[in-house]
Amino acid sequence: MYAPPVQHLITELSKLPGVGGRTAQRLAFHLLRASEEDALALADAIREVKERIGLCEICFNLADGPTCRICADERRDFELICVVEEPSDVISIERTHEFRGRYHVLGGALSPIDGIDPEDLKIAELYERVRGGDVREVVIATNPTTTGEATALHIADGIRSIAPEISVTRLASGLPVGADLEYADELTLGRALAGRRAV
Ligand SMILES: [Zn+2]
Repeated sequence: MYAPPVQHLITELSKLPGVGGRTAQRLAFHLLRASEEDALALADAIREVKERIGLCEICFNLADGPTCRICADERRDFELICVVEEPSDVISIERTHEFRGRYHVLGGALSPIDGIDPEDLKIAELYERVRGGDVREVVIATNPTTTGEATALHIADGIRSIAPEISVTRLASGLPVGADLEYADELTLGRALAGRRAV
Protein backbone atom coordinates (compact mmCIF):
# COMPACT_ATOMS: atom_id res chain seq x y z
CA MET A 1 0.00 0.00 0.00
CA TYR A 2 2.84 2.41 0.85
CA ALA A 3 6.21 2.99 -0.78
CA PRO A 4 8.70 0.70 1.01
CA PRO A 5 10.47 3.54 2.93
CA VAL A 6 7.14 4.76 4.32
CA GLN A 7 6.12 1.23 5.27
CA HIS A 8 9.51 0.79 6.96
CA LEU A 9 8.96 3.94 9.07
CA ILE A 10 5.44 2.82 10.05
CA THR A 11 6.76 -0.61 11.05
CA GLU A 12 9.51 0.90 13.22
CA LEU A 13 7.17 3.41 14.88
CA SER A 14 4.63 0.71 15.67
CA LYS A 15 7.26 -1.07 17.80
CA LEU A 16 7.12 1.80 20.32
CA PRO A 17 5.11 1.12 23.50
CA GLY A 18 1.53 2.31 23.26
CA VAL A 19 1.76 2.99 19.54
CA GLY A 20 -0.60 0.87 17.48
CA GLY A 21 -0.70 0.62 13.70
CA ARG A 22 -3.01 3.58 13.29
CA THR A 23 -0.94 5.91 15.48
CA ALA A 24 2.24 4.75 13.74
CA GLN A 25 0.67 5.70 10.43
CA ARG A 26 -0.35 9.12 11.75
CA LEU A 27 3.15 9.78 13.13
CA ALA A 28 4.74 8.68 9.87
CA PHE A 29 2.58 11.10 7.86
CA HIS A 30 3.37 13.84 10.35
CA LEU A 31 7.10 13.23 9.79
CA LEU A 32 6.61 13.22 6.03
CA ARG A 33 4.93 16.63 6.25
CA ALA A 34 7.49 18.07 8.71
CA SER A 35 10.49 20.04 7.49
CA GLU A 36 13.58 18.01 6.75
CA GLU A 37 15.32 19.84 9.61
CA ASP A 38 12.69 18.83 12.21
CA ALA A 39 12.46 15.24 11.04
CA LEU A 40 16.23 14.76 11.02
CA ALA A 41 16.52 16.40 14.47
CA LEU A 42 14.42 13.51 15.80
CA ALA A 43 16.59 10.96 14.02
CA ASP A 44 19.72 12.64 15.43
CA ALA A 45 18.31 12.73 18.97
CA ILE A 46 17.65 8.97 18.81
CA ARG A 47 21.13 8.30 17.46
CA GLU A 48 22.72 10.52 20.11
CA VAL A 49 21.10 8.81 23.11
CA LYS A 50 22.04 5.41 21.75
CA GLU A 51 25.64 6.47 21.19
CA ARG A 52 26.20 8.55 24.33
CA ILE A 53 24.05 7.11 27.09
CA GLY A 54 25.16 3.98 28.88
CA LEU A 55 24.77 2.57 32.37
CA CYS A 56 26.50 3.94 35.47
CA GLU A 57 29.21 1.48 36.50
CA ILE A 58 28.22 1.83 40.17
CA CYS A 59 24.40 1.89 40.23
CA PHE A 60 23.33 1.03 36.61
CA ASN A 61 21.29 4.19 36.28
CA LEU A 62 21.50 5.90 32.88
CA ALA A 63 24.75 7.84 32.54
CA ASP A 64 26.54 9.91 29.92
CA GLY A 65 29.94 8.95 31.35
CA PRO A 66 31.33 6.13 33.51
CA THR A 67 29.13 7.15 36.45
CA CYS A 68 25.75 8.86 36.71
CA ARG A 69 25.32 12.35 38.16
CA ILE A 70 23.98 11.01 41.45
CA CYS A 71 26.92 8.64 42.09
CA ALA A 72 29.32 11.44 41.12
CA ASP A 73 27.74 13.80 43.67
CA GLU A 74 29.91 13.85 46.83
CA ARG A 75 27.06 15.30 48.90
CA ARG A 76 24.93 12.17 48.58
CA ASP A 77 24.85 9.74 51.52
CA PHE A 78 27.05 6.82 50.45
CA GLU A 79 25.74 4.57 53.24
CA LEU A 80 22.17 4.59 51.99
CA ILE A 81 21.14 2.68 48.84
CA CYS A 82 17.68 2.74 47.30
CA VAL A 83 16.97 -0.26 45.06
CA VAL A 84 14.63 0.36 42.13
CA GLU A 85 13.57 -1.56 39.04
CA GLU A 86 14.16 0.99 36.28
CA PRO A 87 16.00 4.28 35.66
CA SER A 88 12.59 6.01 35.41
CA ASP A 89 12.00 5.07 39.09
CA VAL A 90 15.12 7.06 40.05
CA ILE A 91 13.47 10.13 38.53
CA SER A 92 10.23 9.46 40.45
CA ILE A 93 12.08 9.20 43.77
CA GLU A 94 14.33 12.20 43.07
CA ARG A 95 11.20 14.29 42.51
CA THR A 96 10.07 13.66 46.09
CA HIS A 97 13.29 15.29 47.48
CA GLU A 98 13.00 12.78 50.36
CA PHE A 99 16.02 10.66 49.51
CA ARG A 100 19.65 11.76 49.85
CA GLY A 101 21.39 8.45 49.29
CA ARG A 102 22.40 6.67 46.12
CA TYR A 103 20.53 4.16 43.98
CA HIS A 104 20.86 0.68 42.59
CA VAL A 105 18.90 0.00 39.39
CA LEU A 106 18.06 -3.69 38.94
CA GLY A 107 16.95 -3.46 35.33
CA GLY A 108 13.57 -5.13 35.96
CA ALA A 109 11.85 -7.42 38.45
CA LEU A 110 11.98 -11.16 39.04
CA SER A 111 9.39 -12.99 36.99
CA PRO A 112 10.12 -16.69 36.51
CA ILE A 113 7.08 -17.01 34.24
CA ASP A 114 8.68 -14.53 31.82
CA GLY A 115 12.10 -16.15 32.26
CA ILE A 116 13.50 -13.28 34.37
CA ASP A 117 15.70 -14.88 37.01
CA PRO A 118 18.08 -13.30 39.56
CA GLU A 119 21.04 -13.53 37.16
CA ASP A 120 19.13 -11.44 34.60
CA LEU A 121 19.02 -8.49 37.02
CA LYS A 122 21.82 -6.52 38.72
CA ILE A 123 21.31 -8.41 41.98
CA ALA A 124 24.81 -9.90 42.30
CA GLU A 125 26.16 -6.37 41.71
CA LEU A 126 23.98 -5.09 44.55
CA TYR A 127 25.34 -7.76 46.91
CA GLU A 128 28.83 -6.76 45.83
CA ARG A 129 28.16 -3.14 46.84
CA VAL A 130 26.69 -4.28 50.14
CA ARG A 131 29.70 -6.49 50.84
CA GLY A 132 31.93 -3.47 50.24
CA GLY A 133 31.19 -2.54 53.84
CA ASP A 134 30.09 1.11 53.90
CA VAL A 135 26.36 0.53 53.52
CA ARG A 136 24.11 1.26 56.53
CA GLU A 137 20.65 0.82 55.00
CA VAL A 138 19.14 -0.60 51.82
CA VAL A 139 15.70 0.79 50.96
CA ILE A 140 13.88 -1.55 48.59
CA ALA A 141 11.66 0.53 46.31
CA THR A 142 10.60 -2.03 43.74
CA ASN A 143 7.05 -1.58 42.41
CA PRO A 144 4.10 -2.65 44.62
CA THR A 145 3.23 -5.37 42.08
CA THR A 146 3.48 -9.17 42.38
CA THR A 147 6.86 -9.26 40.65
CA GLY A 148 8.11 -6.19 42.55
CA GLU A 149 7.14 -7.74 45.90
CA ALA A 150 8.78 -11.06 45.00
CA THR A 151 11.94 -9.18 44.05
CA ALA A 152 11.89 -7.24 47.33
CA LEU A 153 11.62 -10.46 49.39
CA HIS A 154 14.37 -12.15 47.39
CA ILE A 155 16.75 -9.21 47.90
CA ALA A 156 15.87 -8.75 51.58
CA ASP A 157 16.71 -12.45 52.20
CA GLY A 158 19.91 -12.18 50.21
CA ILE A 159 21.17 -9.12 52.09
CA ARG A 160 20.25 -10.61 55.47
CA SER A 161 22.34 -13.68 54.71
CA ILE A 162 25.45 -11.80 53.54
CA ALA A 163 25.31 -8.70 55.76
CA PRO A 164 22.89 -9.13 58.70
CA GLU A 165 24.06 -5.85 60.26
CA ILE A 166 22.59 -3.79 57.42
CA SER A 167 19.05 -2.54 57.89
CA VAL A 168 16.77 -3.45 54.99
CA THR A 169 13.61 -1.39 54.58
CA ARG A 170 10.68 -1.30 52.20
CA LEU A 171 8.50 1.66 51.19
CA ALA A 172 5.50 2.12 53.49
CA SER A 173 2.09 1.08 52.25
CA GLY A 174 -0.15 3.74 50.77
CA LEU A 175 1.17 3.31 47.27
CA PRO A 176 -1.43 2.11 44.80
CA VAL A 177 -1.11 -1.68 44.79
CA GLY A 178 -0.38 -3.21 41.42
CA ALA A 179 0.77 0.05 39.87
CA ASP A 180 4.27 1.15 38.96
CA LEU A 181 6.13 3.73 41.05
CA GLU A 182 6.25 6.12 38.14
CA TYR A 183 2.49 6.58 38.40
CA ALA A 184 2.57 7.48 42.11
CA ASP A 185 2.33 11.18 42.86
CA GLU A 186 5.28 12.86 44.57
CA LEU A 187 3.51 13.38 47.89
CA THR A 188 2.41 9.74 48.20
CA LEU A 189 5.82 8.45 47.17
CA GLY A 190 7.56 10.90 49.51
CA ARG A 191 5.41 9.73 52.42
CA ALA A 192 6.04 6.07 51.54
CA LEU A 193 9.79 6.78 51.64
CA ALA A 194 9.67 8.71 54.91
CA GLY A 195 7.55 5.96 56.51
CA ARG A 196 9.62 3.04 55.26
CA ARG A 197 9.67 -0.01 57.50
CA ALA A 198 12.10 -2.84 58.18
CA VAL A 199 11.58 -6.10 56.29
ZN1 LIG B 1 25.17 5.79 39.48
